Formats: sequence, C-alpha cells, structure tokens
Amino acid sequence: MTYAISIEWERCQDGIVGREESPDGAERVALDRDGPDFGSKVANQLHEILSPPIVEAKLWLQYRTERRETYVRRLDGLKNLLVTEYVNAKDSESLIEFVRKYGFPAPGDAIHIDDLIELQVGMRNILVEYNNSSTFQAAADFRTMAAQHIADIKPDLVTPPGTNGLSLTLVPDSLQGFMLLEAASVMTGGALVMKCAHCGAIFVSGSHTGRRKTAHYCSNRCRVAAQRA
Ligand SMILES: [Zn+2]
Repeated sequence: MTYAISIEWERCQDGIVGREESPDGAERVALDRDGPDFGSKVANQLHEILSPPIVEAKLWLQYRTERRETYVRRLDGLKNLLVTEYVNAKDSESLIEFVRKYGFPAPGDAIHIDDLIELQVGMRNILVEYNNSSTFQAAADFRTMAAQHIADIKPDLVTPPGTNGLSLTLVPDSLQGFMLLEAASVMTGGALVMKCAHCGAIFVSGSHTGRRKTAHYCSNRCRVAAQRA
C-alpha cells in the first residue's frame, strides 16, 4: 500500500524581514533582511538558544509585505525532502533562505526565531534517533511532535501528473505537518537516515531515495571533496 503526501502552502514573494522585540514586548524594531547585521542578529539568538540563554531581545521573522503566492509540494518518493533541507539549515542565512523559499512552517505572518529553531531541533532529533536505531524513541518523539504541530490531515484522491490512476494523498494543514509526514515516510518506507561523512548533513538512502544504501556522502560535491582531502 502506498500513498502520497501533498500540501498547498504560501510564501511571501517579497521575502522576509526580522523584527526585534525588547524584553517587555513593547518595542519592535524592523531589521532589514538585506541589512548588514540581520544575519548576525539571528546567529546571536541561535547561539543563545544552544547555550543557556539570557535573551536580551527576541527576534521575529516576518513576511516583508502582505503579498502571498501559493505553491504545491507533493511527495511520492523520498527524493528532495523538505524535512532534511530544514534540519540541515545550520546557519542563520540558510534558515532564513528556507523560510523565504517555502514560507513559515506554521500558519501565520510571523514566527519567533526560537520556535523555528525548536521545531528544527525536534525534527532533527527524530531522524538522528532513527539513524541510531533508537526506533522506539524516534516513534515516541514523532508522536509528541505530531500532537503538537499537526492539527489536521485530510485524505484526498488525486491523479498525479502524467498518470491516469488515482493516488491516495494525505494533505496536512501546515508545512510543519508536511515535513513530519515526510519524516514518517522515511522511517516507515525502508529508507536509511545517514549523516554525511564529509559535511555532517542528514540525508536518506536506500529504497525510493535515489541513493544507494551504502552512500556515505550527501552529494557528489561532498564525495569529491572527501576524496581530495
Ligand atoms: Zn555532505
């Protein structure tokens, strides 16, 4: 039995801006996404979260304008996963780039950077636990996150592009739901979760992933770089 996962989601075609909030929550200062210190503000906050925080100011990411465009994302194999792209966004720039490309994981026009990172860490933990053969723990953490972050999933019957048949398709109500279902598909589809021997990125290999089960590197670039080293 197979099924696909699909979502129609929105992003702002005008990009993302950061907003800083003082501890009392009163003052909000817009930071220009292209300004020189935006990346370092996010990086500082990232650092504060990873080491015990004394957070002076809270950083929000917000859509730059009210313009929105929708896009459809469909998963019927295990190639090109959003969840691995998300958990591999290690620095502030790549995290901002992710939300610029795909929108915020949860509904709304803004997200607190803490929430963005907490969600990322949670999803990463599930995949790493699965990678470490802690499947019971991975399933338990998946259950907790699914309860927190997925409010609704609707079934649909769709005709995938280039086919005549019908495909059972699960449609979650948020991008974070979509990514969690991607993770579930990896863990139930016989694929392996691997850590790149060169750059440390998480990737999947084995059935339906387009990668051999024995792959050690996330990409050709990393394979070549490792051989040169
Ligand atoms: Zn790599």
